[in-house]
Amino acid sequence: MERQCIKIPKKKGEPARRILLDFEILDISLKIGSDESFLYLPLSRELLLHELTELPAEAKLAEFNFEPQKNKPTPEDILGFSPAYELIGDVALLEDSDLDSQKALRIAYVLLQTHSNIKTVLRPLTPVIGEFRLRDFEVVAGEPRTETVHREYGCRYKVDLAKAYFTPRLSTERSRILSWIKEGDVVVDMFAGVGPYSILLAKSKKPSKVVAIDKNPVAVHYLIENITFNSAKNIEAIEGDAREEAKKFAGTADHVIMNLPHNAYEFLDSAVLLTKPGGIIHYYGMTPEDDLFESSIKLIREAAEKAGRQVEVLEERVVRSYAPHQYNICIEIRII
Ligand code: SAM
Repeated sequence: MERQCIKIPKKKGEPARRILLDFEILDISLKIGSDESFLYLPLSRELLLHELTELPAEAKLAEFNFEPQKNKPTPEDILGFSPAYELIGDVALLEDSDLDSQKALRIAYVLLQTHSNIKTVLRPLTPVIGEFRLRDFEVVAGEPRTETVHREYGCRYKVDLAKAYFTPRLSTERSRILSWIKEGDVVVDMFAGVGPYSILLAKSKKPSKVVAIDKNPVAVHYLIENITFNSAKNIEAIEGDAREEAKKFAGTADHVIMNLPHNAYEFLDSAVLLTKPGGIIHYYGMTPEDDLFESSIKLIREAAEKAGRQVEVLEERVVRSYAPHQYNICIEIRII
């Protein structure tokens, strides 16, 4: 196909290609053309004058008959390295916190060009922080938004990533929790976020009731929308502090999910209060590698004993590595 291009002597081709990539103007759906002396770099739009002046002086505008790329190039083919990113719905989150803005923009442009399912590229400006476990983002390229819909195990979760917590990294963990739940169980999801535990188990396990609590009003707004979106039954969505809400559901839960790994230990009295005799707490924590489970189990046991209850440890697991020598762990523990 005939296309406008930059004709450039071969030895100047690579710097010109990089500049066109930076300007988001290299058409990577077409193969770069060549003859004995020149490269022909296809353009996806008209080159602006100031862009032309940035190119090596030998660069000329020309026409060339290009062939389409047979195998779409990967980001690695174009960039020379594989950019680290996490895909949430149609949003790519760049993972390298040391990127300068120019490099971030270049990666973003390549991701948008090579993956038609990516519409927005975001760069986190902060780690996950605060009570609501949020991050600030910069929109690097693409549609200027932080809201997306993520699909996981046949469910869809709408979330504004800047206003409510969500990570696809716990998807395996969420599906694993399912194996503990039986039809007719009552489940309390103390820190429900936009609903990925509550909705998945309500859809696939027929619990008699799921109480899904979150303190972040925006998370609960999405939770309610996601319940409808997924036609999930028997979920009560509550905006509130899990500690306060626990008093209203004391002694009712067959399962209590405590997915607030940095602070779950502060809510153990409430989790014990919620659990019916023989009910199970799914406790998440962040622990050092030399004390993965012991201190957490001690805290749970102490909370149970304070309430005149006993514990039986059912399972201890590392969910994922979180930071050097720090692990996200889960303990399944029966409260008798
Ligand atoms: N379970 C969800 C998920 O997997 O996406 C969300 C987990 S996120 C780590 C923890 C959630 O707990 C956040 O949505 C936050 O707003 C909520 N939260 C923090 N403190 C809370 C409290 N005192 N009571 C209820 N929710 C709380």
